[in-house]
Amino acid sequence: MKLRIAIDGPAGAGKSTAARAVAKRLGLAYLDTGAMYRAVTLFALRRKVNLHDDKELERLAASLDLAVKSGKDGENIIYVDGEDVTEAIRTPEVNRHVSIVAKCPEVRVLMVEKQKAIGRAGNVVMDGRDIGTNVMPDAEVKIFLTASLEERARRRLAELTAKGEKLDLEQMIAEIAARDKIDSERECSPLRPAEDAVHLDTTNMTVEEVVDAIVNIAAGP
Ligand code: C5P
Repeated sequence: MKLRIAIDGPAGAGKSTAARAVAKRLGLAYLDTGAMYRAVTLFALRRKVNLHDDKELERLAASLDLAVKSGKDGENIIYVDGEDVTEAIRTPEVNRHVSIVAKCPEVRVLMVEKQKAIGRAGNVVMDGRDIGTNVMPDAEVKIFLTASLEERARRRLAELTAKGEKLDLEQMIAEIAARDKIDSERECSPLRPAEDAVHLDTTNMTVEEVVDAIVNIAAGP
């Protein structure tokens, strides 16, 4: 049987952590689609591409050899032209620019093509912003994860602080709010729940509880 689980939601709602754990529990593959947009953004910044020029962005995205492999804990290891960029795509600089790159329709077409091919193989958990609406609209399970803005900012801050970045909560709130605004207001497959998505507010839930809830939903009534 083919099982496809689509997990969407705003930044910091806990999608990646939950998606990876659900995949591990159910023996499914895992794809973090945000990492793909981050990889294009990293190279756009390195190569000083004009982020507001869709044609330039498309040329860049089409020229990159983007590969996603699975690490020993099921995490995604991201390679661009053979370089492991898994860490490099998680910097505050990439965070600040990724939504501008991700709203470019031409970049989305290229990324979504790869994501759909992985979706067609089935037995996968994919997380992002448009998985239930666009990448896998026929997924058996669709989840929309949310949490309060402050809680999401706190989670992202904890992740970045653990890596030695110096940011404060106010900055994090502003950055996440700005990213969500661009992601939900863009014309091309904006962030929104699929009509048949199950909504889960994770503000007061532990990771374990979120994973249990998704696994239960996937098991059906
Ligand atoms: O999930 P993550 O926070 O890593 O995603 C980074 C950015 O990539 C999002 O803020 C959004 O702009 C973009 N994205 C997207 N569509 C997806 C996944 C991510 O536009 N399916």
